[in-house]
Amino acid sequence: MSSDGRRWFEQRKEFAARPPDSDGAPERWTKCAACGEMLFDETLAENMAVCPLCLHHFPIDAHQRLALLCDEGNVEFHDEVLSPVDALGFIDSKSYKGRIESTRKATGRNDAFLAASAAVDGIDVEVGSFDFRFMGGSMGSVVGESITRLYERAIERRVPAIVVSASGGARMQEGVLSLMQMAKTCAALARLKDEARMPYISVLTHPTTGGVAASFAMLGDVILAEPRALIGFAGPRVIQQTIGANLPDGFQTSEYLLEHGLVDHIANRRELKPLIAQVLRALLLLPPGARSRRGESVAPRVVPG
Ligand SMILES: [Zn+2]
Repeated sequence: MSSDGRRWFEQRKEFAARPPDSDGAPERWTKCAACGEMLFDETLAENMAVCPLCLHHFPIDAHQRLALLCDEGNVEFHDEVLSPVDALGFIDSKSYKGRIESTRKATGRNDAFLAASAAVDGIDVEVGSFDFRFMGGSMGSVVGESITRLYERAIERRVPAIVVSASGGARMQEGVLSLMQMAKTCAALARLKDEARMPYISVLTHPTTGGVAASFAMLGDVILAEPRALIGFAGPRVIQQTIGANLPDGFQTSEYLLEHGLVDHIANRRELKPLIAQVLRALLLLPPGARSRRGESVAPRVVPG
């Protein structure tokens, strides 16, 4: 496990063990963006960065996300060294090279996706999460390659795949190279389903838009979403201007997509891990509580007839 991941696990343990006011450290507070309540940071951390009053889900980074989903001590991160290249020499208000450098310094990451071999409640999986802090979680060549490799490892090991999305879509600074990632990731995902016959769970978090929403994010065998996430291809203003009509209330939210059959279930962050484990056991025909050990096949048993 990388040092960031370890730190998050340790922080969670510390928060759980520490009695109130025991360390004399200055208290830190965060204002809930939805209900305006001031929340003690430790309370927020214990609550998986969800407001206890209104259930607003605060954004979390990729390490925090994987720490919440994966069993402790059983996480092997992949492809963290892959770095984006400015193949087009792209400059908008700032050069792409400059953006990469400043974002790398601010986040300590090389790009917007983190992948790992891990276990969810004892079930071996290949799992990955977007990191929205890195250029809005946009998908360029490195993100596409990391996700493709994730599916390929899942095919090789015959284990399920899980991808947690939080993305503004394709990375415009990489032009057509970023659009190609949609086809590339989906081709690998098709092999996971057709050749390895392993399930894929897609988790949509705020926001999941553009080329990510238009490719693997909406191709889950089971699609879960966090509450009140923005999910869609184009933004509401663009759609409104194009079709010249007002959009319904709650358009492009998790709840709207659930109502219209595009999402299978809305899961609060706290119930996400047990729910994923339950879904995987059902899809893999594993009995309740069954675990798969690293390196062993968890291929579904064939049910006669
Ligand atoms: Zn709140």
